[in-house]
Amino acid sequence: MNGFSKYYQKDRQTRLNILVEQQKLSSAEVEKLAQAELDFELGDTMIENYLTQYQLPEGLALNYVIDGKEYLIPMVTEEPSVIAAASHGAQLVKKSGGFKAQVKERLMIGQIVLEQVSDAPTLAKKIKQQQDKLLTLANEAHPSIVSRGGGARELNVRILAPDMLSVDLVVDVKEAMGANMLNTMLEACAKYLEEELAVEVLLSILSNYATRCLVKVTCELPVENLTKGEISGAKIAQKIASASRLAQLDPYRATTHNKGIMNGIDAVVIASGNDWRAVEAGAHAYAARDEQYRGLSTWKLKGGKLCGELELPLPLATVGGSVSIVPLVKINQRLLELEDAKELEKIVAAVGLGQNLAALYALVTDGIQKGHMKLQLKSLAVSIGAKPQEVSQVVEKILAKKARDSATAQQILAEIRGNK
Ligand code: NDP
Repeated sequence: MNGFSKYYQKDRQTRLNILVEQQKLSSAEVEKLAQAELDFELGDTMIENYLTQYQLPEGLALNYVIDGKEYLIPMVTEEPSVIAAASHGAQLVKKSGGFKAQVKERLMIGQIVLEQVSDAPTLAKKIKQQQDKLLTLANEAHPSIVSRGGGARELNVRILAPDMLSVDLVVDVKEAMGANMLNTMLEACAKYLEEELAVEVLLSILSNYATRCLVKVTCELPVENLTKGEISGAKIAQKIASASRLAQLDPYRATTHNKGIMNGIDAVVIASGNDWRAVEAGAHAYAARDEQYRGLSTWKLKGGKLCGELELPLPLATVGGSVSIVPLVKINQRLLELEDAKELEKIVAAVGLGQNLAALYALVTDGIQKGHMKLQLKSLAVSIGAKPQEVSQVVEKILAKKARDSATAQQILAEIRGNK
């Protein structure tokens, strides 16, 4: 994307100015980015016992080309290497044409769980026969979603135990995440079931295991594009494929593999105002869908190409919850040039796969610490009291030392200050 070359080397004001020059944001919006703060009334409306803002840095991931469109992706994270790695993974993929993404359906599932059931198969059949009535009741409980083209679509019954049933309502929530609208619909249906069938309702709530809201993202890289110095691209590709296999075999590695993917995913989910706990819960449940916890992404060698794939549930919204009220979220949606929630799902999944590629690439070449270290040392310098103008000197000097701990950093800082 023009104007974003060496973006990381520019000062903050220049980075903000580039957004205006490149017509990504207006001057007024950039002014808001520069001074972003929640006002007291908004914070006090959003949560109980509001005190202040807990701030995290927001930056831009670059190089993301998804289905032929290039994106600037706002990410909110406290981990120093995340945005650099996400941009590096995307750069490798961009050279090979970018990511491809698919969202087949965007439906949310909610449960009404019945307990103390005496004849589960007969009750399941009876409830299924009432499907049309229950769908109508659900839609009457939240009519505005029907007028937006959404609403309740299916009703399924699962027998969880001889005495326990789950009645699953499947709803098209359009641009929302749907938790509140589903919960309202579920409670209306639960009341009807209690009154008409004299059943015992245990609870009614949305399920975060959003298996009808899946997104799949893929990419293909000719192995020669992975070459690093003396190490051939073919060798690196083979090692990445082996690391991916390892994450399918071993839950100890799979957990860390997926943590790396979620580094990217959570950062964009937070920047887009969405519920990252919902995304985390669904992603990890999906990683264990065949009863072993596995890596969410896979990398395979096929005909001279390294082929990556990531599929996971991403129940994201462009409206509702805090999306509609936090001012910075609107600006982030503008930076993303977002059309709808499906597009947001594709972007978030692509960042997950790009982040994963960068992590595996580092792991099988230099090791994770080389790239991380400089960025982590910046945080160490700040933590021992280095001023912004002293940080790079502390980092340079500590890199030459064997011990890279806070005592060494303090000693270096004292020397720098003593030398002035
Ligand atoms: P809201 O309650 O904010 O509902 C979304 C609202 O967006 C709807 O009421 C709808 O208004 C409005 N809207 C405007 N345009 C559209 C459109 N195009 N498509 C759909 N809706 C539109 O949020 P959700 O129901 O989405 O719930 C999400 C919130 O619930 C999050 O904050 C989440 O953290 C929280 N939550 C999560 C739970 C979980 O994950 N288990 C449980 C409980 C809450 P209108 O009424 O006019 O149609």
